[in-house]
Amino acid sequence: MGALKAKITKIEQLKGSRNWDGSLYYRLKFLVKTENGGMVFAMTDIVPGYRNFPWWEPVIKAGPGTVIGGVYLKEGFKPCKVDADSQVFIVHEPLFAHPKAEPLPLGQIRLVKSGDPETWYVPSKSGVDRGYHVSLFHGIGECECSAFRYSGNKRSCDHIKRVLDLKKKAALVQAEKTAQKLF
Ligand SMILES: [Zn+2]
Repeated sequence: MGALKAKITKIEQLKGSRNWDGSLYYRLKFLVKTENGGMVFAMTDIVPGYRNFPWWEPVIKAGPGTVIGGVYLKEGFKPCKVDADSQVFIVHEPLFAHPKAEPLPLGQIRLVKSGDPETWYVPSKSGVDRGYHVSLFHGIGECECSAFRYSGNKRSCDHIKRVLDLKKKAALVQAEKTAQKLF
């Protein structure tokens, strides 16, 4: 299995380990992009001072939302475990490969690809220049716009909000239809 890309979703505070040496560790949680293009949740514990720590220190400093490469999964773990000896590095690109943005002048928000992740095309509000692609994986949004990139830990933008709004409305309509069938 080759090296994978992953996104840090959470870094827990340093805490005491139940290991024999009682060392402190960071627990990191990830979304890992698998070789077949799917995604899995995974975790690992990183101990400052261990030989592998120099690989992880910049990643931990960069914080949640950071995309990293060089990730290997340990075999036979459920939930999945990232091998702490992976020689990871920060990747400056989104975890999901967005389809190329189309120069659509007056588009509607629409589903480009269903599944998990699913991809949406969201036209800019002015409707004149371009649109953006939003990916949703397990309800977690990612957008290719710069507002998203600079939203820090909020990990949100107007495009993601518009997609989530639309989905909420669609779910309501669906629920109403089902109710009408029942009565
Ligand atoms: Zn956006």
